[in-house]
Amino acid sequence: MAQRQPPNHTPDHRHLGMLLVISGPSGVGKTTITRALEEHIPQAIFSVSATTRPKTDADREGLDYHFINDAQFDAMIAQGEFLEHAGVFGKRYGTPKAWVHQRLAEGRLVILEIDVQGAINIHKAHPSAMSIFILPPDEQTLLARLRQRKREDESTIQRRFGQARREMEIAHSCGVYNAFLVNRDLQATVVQAVALVKAEWNRRNP
Ligand code: 5GP
Repeated sequence: MAQRQPPNHTPDHRHLGMLLVISGPSGVGKTTITRALEEHIPQAIFSVSATTRPKTDADREGLDYHFINDAQFDAMIAQGEFLEHAGVFGKRYGTPKAWVHQRLAEGRLVILEIDVQGAINIHKAHPSAMSIFILPPDEQTLLARLRQRKREDESTIQRRFGQARREMEIAHSCGVYNAFLVNRDLQATVVQAVALVKAEWNRRNP
């Protein structure tokens, strides 16, 4: 008869955490959704990426991103410090590997707000990751929301809009996303996202 293992050695998925990827075009509301998930799910924690893009007034160092230069980014790649990294709009973004692995080992629900390339790479390394893509109701609404943010000039907005259209096409065809949520109303989408993620967390942690 098999002996019962001591508690520390018992395989227990509650101690392996869960990776949650949230993607979607700029201006679709994914940051609000991500932050709401962190607020409503006690085990959830947001992973702060490193980026070479310039800090804007809206960004908080260490909370939204770690702002680093190209040489620092190269050094982090060389040291194998990224779980994934990608180029977005000519700037580089990467997910810190050691930090994410530590949080997963503690049994946390780690939220990665990353683009489609990143989601595809995470899916390869962590096939059990849950991935959600946030869609705008339609393209014109997305364009209007990008303009409303008043963060960028019109040429940058147009570039982000073109990128968003390509990103939505790849998201649909890549087979990585478990769910697509259409953000018609931000509060309703937050409620939907929280319910979806809680259900998956509870399914894995009965
Ligand atoms: P923003 O500059 O608007 O904050 O982000 C631009 C894009 O980069 C967004 O789609 C965002 O989700 C993505 N992004 C942010 N951090 C990471 C990361 O660590 N890895 C990847 N692959 N994409 C990221």
